[in-house]
Parts: sequence; structure tokens; C-alpha cells
Amino acid sequence: MNTASKEKISKEVDNITDELFELAKRLKENPEIGFQEYQASEWLTEVLEKYSFKVEKGIGGLETAFKGTLKLGKGGPRIAFLCEYDALPEVGHGCGHNLIATASLGAAIALSKTDGLDAEVVVFGCPGEENGGGKVILVEKGLFNDIDIAMMVHPSTENCVYSTSLAIDAYEFEFKGRSSHAAGAPEKGINALDGVIHLFNGINSLRQYLKEDVRIHGIISEGGKAPNVIPDRAVAKFYFRAKEREYLNEVVEKIFNVAKGAATIVGAQVEWRKFELSNDDLKPNKILAEVFEKNLRSLGVDDIVPPKEGRGSTDMGNVSHVVPAIHPHLAIGDKSLIPHSRDFAQATVSERGRNFINLAAKTMAFTAFDVLSNQELLEKIKEEFKKG
Ligand SMILES: [Zn+2]
Repeated sequence: MNTASKEKISKEVDNITDELFELAKRLKENPEIGFQEYQASEWLTEVLEKYSFKVEKGIGGLETAFKGTLKLGKGGPRIAFLCEYDALPEVGHGCGHNLIATASLGAAIALSKTDGLDAEVVVFGCPGEENGGGKVILVEKGLFNDIDIAMMVHPSTENCVYSTSLAIDAYEFEFKGRSSHAAGAPEKGINALDGVIHLFNGINSLRQYLKEDVRIHGIISEGGKAPNVIPDRAVAKFYFRAKEREYLNEVVEKIFNVAKGAATIVGAQVEWRKFELSNDDLKPNKILAEVFEKNLRSLGVDDIVPPKEGRGSTDMGNVSHVVPAIHPHLAIGDKSLIPHSRDFAQATVSERGRNFINLAAKTMAFTAFDVLSNQELLEKIKEEFKKG
């Protein structure tokens, strides 16, 4: 049954690849930035409806999010394929989310045509990955609570089945002081900008005592208006990242103390708030990744790089903390291709882009099939997840 079913899945993917590639091209020609992907979510849900999925729009209170479901047989484990479809300002689909969306559709549609499975195929439309992440909200609203496994594939410049990413918090620090003539009456002023400068210096001193996987990068987004006016308001924005969420929480607590200290030095007030959603570190499920790799090799792909520690961050991290998940990468170009560039967007509509949709859809659908037709495998995947 195994081989015959996979042959059928493979044929189904081949049958819809042109349609999906056309859609990927249309998305590339009409890029929409995070949380404004109105056309994209419309087009993607149209396809799901055409292939008999029941579609809910605006899930989790996000206008451009959606969920498509289709029950197979008597129903059973729920397998989720995740779509991203937001573009970047200036460079459009320079992160290739048009391919992520169409490959996940392909996997779901092909799997839905498989006979003999008792399961539920779920497609999540996840907006705004580049803005810190719609998935963060979908996870918080509990939309993944009844999902058994989740997967998506990201275009890249190499094939990598297992890679991690960093947890991230984005904080804005607002210092408030008192303005005064900088030459005429400096003693009457409280310099908010100096508070920000102490914050930078304090953080730089703290760096020596942090683990080496921590990344901290900040800017001064407001630092006064004129040199002869003591700034009564100054604002700095920082990204704080670390390999693990737990340690990042410790780091951020230390930073808050630095901010309080910086304000105390100059006599200013300081407040902080998040200016983007926080991402957890990506913790792919090893067993699920192994199944994916086996299937990828069965489709003729052998140039797979070893597991990698990623340096970026993604909201798929949050998903991987609530459900066994994978986030493999497949190449659409060689190392000279730069992610988040116009060239990368162009590569998504090349022959390599078309191939990505076909290959990613097949590998995901095969992997889902293996898990759904082997209860013991699913249990092992869940066990690994529970151990953390
Ligand atoms: Zn991306």
C-alpha cells in the first residue's frame, strides 16, 4: 500500500504543479506586506475551496489568516501544513513565501486524495511572518492545540532538513526627562538622550557576561531635535536574541535592570514595551525531520547539509513549542543567491522555483502519509516532543 500510495501522491502533485506555479507567479507579481495579504489569502483559499476544503477566514482575529480542513475517512490525527504569504517592503517576495504557500497547498491537496487514511488535513494561512509573526497569535489563541504535527518548507540556497533559530524579543525603551536651554540653563534639564546612551553602554558592558549565543542589536530611534535643547524624550529599539527562550528571559530581566540604572544616573524616567511579537527558538522534531529526510532522498535529493544552528528568528519557533513541527529548507539557487533580495524573488518564479513547489509538496505529503499510516511512529514523535 505504501509504495502505491506514494506513487499516487506523486502523480497528484505533478497534476497540480502548473496551477500552483501560476499562483506563485501571481503572488510574486502582487506582493503584499505582513497582515495586509488580502489578495493572497483570497487566492489561496479559493484553491482550497476548489479542492473541497472547508475554509474559515479571519481566524485568531487576524483578517488575512485562514484555516482549511478536510476530513479523510473516519477522521483522526490532524496534520497541518503551514502557508506563509507575506512579502517584504521594496524587495517583494525576496523571502520566497509565495513558494511556501503554494508548496503547502500542494501537499495538502495531494494528501487529501489518498485513499485509506483516517485523518484530518489542515492548512493554516499564517500572515505576517516578517513582522514578528501571525503564528505567534495563532499559537496564543490556541489554534494549534488540537494539531498532531505541523510542517512547512522554506526556500533557501541549500537543502537542510534540520535547523534551529533564535528566540527573539523586540523592546522599545522610552526615556523621559526635562527640556531646557542646553547652554543657558543646563542645570534645569534632564537629558533623556543621556539615559539612552547609558543604556547602550550598560548593555555593552553586560555583553561580557552573557552566553555567546546571545545577540543584541539596537538603534536610537529618537534622540532629540536640536543640540541647544536638552532632549526631554529619547527612544531606543532593541532586538534581543538567544538560542533558548528560557535563557533569553533571564537576559531580558538583566537588561531591564540596566535600563533602570541608566535612567537613575541622569534622573530620567524609563518605560519599556514590546514593539513586535516575540518569537521562541525553533526546535524541530528530530524523528519527524528524519522521516522527511528519508523521503527527500527517495525523491533523488542527496546534497543535504548537516543539521545547522540558525542565526535568524521565525514565528515557526512558537509553533514548535506547542506541537511537533519541522521547518526544512530546500534550495532554489546556489550560495551566490542572497535571501531578502530582488534576485531571490526572481528565483522563485524560475524553473528552480517550480521544482521547489513540486519537491516540497511531495516530500511533505510523503512524510505526512508515513506518520498517518503508522500509529507507532506518531507516538514516538509525540514522545520526543513531550521530553522537550
Ligand atoms: Zn521567510
